[in-house]
Amino acid sequence: IKDIQDVRNLMRTVPDFPIKGIPFLDILPIFQNPKAVDFIINCIVDHINSTKEKIDVVVGLEARGFLFGPIVALRLNAAFVPARKKGKLPGNTINVEYQKEYGVDIFEMQEDAIKQDQNVIVIDDLMATGGTAEAAGKLVKKLGGKVLEYVFLVELAVFDGYKKVDAPVYSVLKY
Ligand code: 5GP
Repeated sequence: IKDIQDVRNLMRTVPDFPIKGIPFLDILPIFQNPKAVDFIINCIVDHINSTKEKIDVVVGLEARGFLFGPIVALRLNAAFVPARKKGKLPGNTINVEYQKEYGVDIFEMQEDAIKQDQNVIVIDDLMATGGTAEAAGKLVKKLGGKVLEYVFLVELAVFDGYKKVDAPVYSVLKY
């Protein structure tokens, strides 16, 4: 793995997933190549470090945000907090409803997971419309945290998802 093009070449488009007519970008083959994972994590960590802000919490979005979030959090010496679909998290939670392709979905976070004024980054594998990221941002705000940046491996540029969220977007790759 010498550059971002090599990482791009590891991904593949799966037609008609999860339903007919949708071309799904499958990022999982990257995880068969540790050097590619290392390359991606370095891109993200170098970028965050270049902003000179101390990140307190990395929020990873279910499910593929869990693949990147904990590694990035460890490298930034930050906490990792998962945002999960309704009903998966134990104890007291807060939630937010958001629009998916078909109907609404609900995201939850444990209510003591983020403290007032903590600096947060939100991470997921891919941003399309930005609706998922926007919902995660609302959860962080409800708990008093501040999202400094939304971070993705891939940004599907046609959707202009960055317009939906209230902080800058960093993506390793754009499609
Ligand atoms: P959005 O809310 O931005 O429209 O959709 C982003 C969410 O859907 C993310 O959680 C992402 O994992 C998932 N997603 C939508 N389309 C794709 C895709 O083609 N590939 C992958 N890997 N995830 C997708």
